[in-house]
Amino acid sequence: MAVMAEVSTITGAALRSPASPAPAPVKEGDAEKLRFIEEMTSDVDAVQERVLAEILARNADTEYLTNCGLAGATDRATFRAKVPMATYEDLQPYIRRIADGDRSPILSGHPVSEFLTSSGTSAGERKLMPTIEDELNRRQLLYSLQMPVMNLYVPGMDKGKALHFLFVKSETKTPGGLAARPVLTSYYKSNHFKNRPFDAYNNYTSPTAAILCADAFQSMYAQMVCGLVQRHDVLRVGAVFASGLLRAIRFLQLNWEQLAADIETGALTPRVTDPSVREAVADILRPDSELAAVIRAECSSGDWAGIITRIWPNTKYLDVIVTGAMAQYIPTLKYYSGGLPMACTMYASSECYFGLNLRPMCDPSEVSYTLMPNMCYFEFLPMDAAASGGDASQLVDLARVELGREYELVITTYAGLNRYRVGDVLQVTGFHNSAPQFRFVRRKNVLLSIESDKTDEAELQRAVERASALLRPHGATVVEYTSQAYTKSIPGHYVIYWELLAKTPADGVGAGEAVDRETLDQCCLQMEEALNSVYRQSRVADGSIGPLEIRVVRPGTFEELMDYAISRGASINQYKVPRCVTFPPIIELLDSRVVSSHFSPALPHWTPGQRNDD
Ligand code: AMP
Repeated sequence: MAVMAEVSTITGAALRSPASPAPAPVKEGDAEKLRFIEEMTSDVDAVQERVLAEILARNADTEYLTNCGLAGATDRATFRAKVPMATYEDLQPYIRRIADGDRSPILSGHPVSEFLTSSGTSAGERKLMPTIEDELNRRQLLYSLQMPVMNLYVPGMDKGKALHFLFVKSETKTPGGLAARPVLTSYYKSNHFKNRPFDAYNNYTSPTAAILCADAFQSMYAQMVCGLVQRHDVLRVGAVFASGLLRAIRFLQLNWEQLAADIETGALTPRVTDPSVREAVADILRPDSELAAVIRAECSSGDWAGIITRIWPNTKYLDVIVTGAMAQYIPTLKYYSGGLPMACTMYASSECYFGLNLRPMCDPSEVSYTLMPNMCYFEFLPMDAAASGGDASQLVDLARVELGREYELVITTYAGLNRYRVGDVLQVTGFHNSAPQFRFVRRKNVLLSIESDKTDEAELQRAVERASALLRPHGATVVEYTSQAYTKSIPGHYVIYWELLAKTPADGVGAGEAVDRETLDQCCLQMEEALNSVYRQSRVADGSIGPLEIRVVRPGTFEELMDYAISRGASINQYKVPRCVTFPPIIELLDSRVVSSHFSPALPHWTPGQRNDD
């Protein structure tokens, strides 16, 4: 006991920055977790060497490593010499065979238990990441480290609950019969989550049945009503990503009257039909006219500033990722929460969970993640090398990255991805013990993102081409275009600026006017049809992206844009039209030249299954 107390004090102190306020006493249960973090970060190179040897030993007989000529070797030198760097497209033939039912050890020595469907796409479809049973333990382990770290900064989180909006998404089966679903859906449906023992630090207001309900409306409604009923217990409000939390607030804006009515009577709306959800909510929902009155008073005024703390007054922080593409939502979240701290606790992907933020209460602009060396084998491709294609000889180990430099993340996983390019760009910002810490800089090749969708330049180009075919009969073409992820409304949506040229302009008629409204509305829908399946799923199944908008700008606008860029120092010779704009003065310029705006009149096509013809 005394030893434990000593270890905890040391561990707690090591994890806190010198500038942080007086340390909270470390609880016994947390000490072990904090000590684990210290152990893992003390000699990352040794841990990484062991992890690589373990991965290569397990997967020694796989077809992939055999083809690489590894011949059972588990040392770094042979691995470096023989195993090439790989992209998803390189692995796709192997992955396809596993999906089709080939059970031989192709990538992994352990049986592939399911596929995780990444929000990254290949040929317009979600990437399928093979995973194995024991990855769940590694994910679980990383989750279990979050609250012990948080407890060092925010005491008393065991005295109440978390209103965390968690959702499952639809899943399919591959032709070989393996489940294909997003990693969080897999986790929430696992016994690790469903049968988790009570944990005062992760005590959710949402009943598990509501989280597991695949119908987005019913799930959100049930989670919201339970969150409202337990409003005084709520100590943190969150969702995985900022966009998800904003959707919840939008849901409250649209449904507060019904929610208040249910709370007044203690009877759940018949719009929630799922019997298990109804049963779970019935355990929590009681008639409470006082609470109904509070909700009506707070929500009917039309003033939504600070709504989170007005409804959930004991909230200490928002538990939500606002790094990377999610940074665009920081101002809106500040508005709704009255400036509560935002904790970005974890950095993870379908391929593998990577690491933790060891200073979770820091400002979003300062978030760095410490990659935990036990999760997989990490390598890093310097960005200057990545820009020119990059080859495996340029890869740097975790223990050898340099402060300040940017790298593309490359991983070798227990599940059988070898030197796989994740596509994330990270910058080294410091060290915890010997473990480097990284700022998430960006995802490579992502132009537009509202939530988990990722649209690259080529996809946007294809979508514009497909839509502009509708203009041809009108003798008009798109001469220039750019785009922005519009997030001032919830849900956000893509805005595409088009400058049109009429081939045979009628006197005094601009191209914008030569094309009728209906055609331009249809162009919006055509663009959506051409975008990837993650975008279309967000539009159709989740409602988390609003209808795509085309704003037609008057002729000459893009020339003005170029003049503006040149006046700010761009070179005339090298100027290229940006395919996405974020700089407010540029957006203002474009918006001031808009002659008409058009929205997609319908939902694009989307079905849950993966396409199998690519
Ligand atoms: P997915 O495989 O669909 O779960 O997406 C994983 C990707 O989401 C990562 O490769 C990152 O690009 C992004 N991501 C995950 N966690 C974070 C984070 N904490 N901050 C910024 N981006 C993140």
